[in-house]
Amino acid sequence: MRGERTKDRAGCGKRAGKLFPDVCFPLFLRFFAAGKKLSLASRRFLCYNKTTMRPHDKKAALAELERLYPDARPALHYGSAYELLVAVILSAQCTDERVNKVTEKLFEEHPNPAAMCRLSQEELEGYIFSCGLYKMKAAHILSASRDILERFDGEVPGTVEELMSLAGVGKKTANVVYSVAFGGDAIAVGTHVFRVSNRLGLAKGDTPAEVEAGLHRAVPKKDWSRAHHWLIYHGRRVCHSQKPDCANCTLAVRCDFVQRPPKKKKGATARTD
Ligand code: SF4
Repeated sequence: MRGERTKDRAGCGKRAGKLFPDVCFPLFLRFFAAGKKLSLASRRFLCYNKTTMRPHDKKAALAELERLYPDARPALHYGSAYELLVAVILSAQCTDERVNKVTEKLFEEHPNPAAMCRLSQEELEGYIFSCGLYKMKAAHILSASRDILERFDGEVPGTVEELMSLAGVGKKTANVVYSVAFGGDAIAVGTHVFRVSNRLGLAKGDTPAEVEAGLHRAVPKKDWSRAHHWLIYHGRRVCHSQKPDCANCTLAVRCDFVQRPPKKKKGATARTD
């Protein structure tokens, strides 16, 4: 009997120990932050990255995403790190299907930086016209190709920092190339990842950098690269930007957007991202 009671107490202690960091601590910080006039930065820090999803819900949501999309992979077609880099630059504000159509001919004739640099800005614009923002994208592709030739001996560099040093390559593009082409641990925060993470409550933030930092905390490092694809798939198939299909979403039981929707502001008519 005594042994059982001791065991019970030990179990109770364990549960209480889990309850404190999972529930009580974030709640305490929220009440504390609400009652004090603190700077925005302090409130954000105290509000636990503004996320309301509890750690065990995050774990379960990630497991569900993995179950839903076990074969999630990039939709862009590429045969080398260089082709992936060019395809990702072209994919800004453009569908992957459109990019794949455009790159089919472009990569057949200009598969590497040396061949790409033989094109003039106008000639390259002719290839990529239908992707939109073609003037800017052509300039970025040519500048990045020249950089790769002059500074990296014609090989795409394999670190996020070096990738970001290429003209026209930002954090998201660098993270995609680093994780997909080089197998590195990175989460690229594009439009789908940003929207789904915020709605779910997996990682909340006003900027991609804030969401990326939140995802780094929520997702085990070994899953960063795959989680990026899970969130993209969910954003494309279920959690659409205009009309999320919450009625048919298996994550609804844990999702902030459904379980803890933000209060509507006075005069607001429709909810936006
Ligand atoms: S419940 Fe709705 S908002 Fe939440 S992840 Fe699913 S589709 Fe998106």
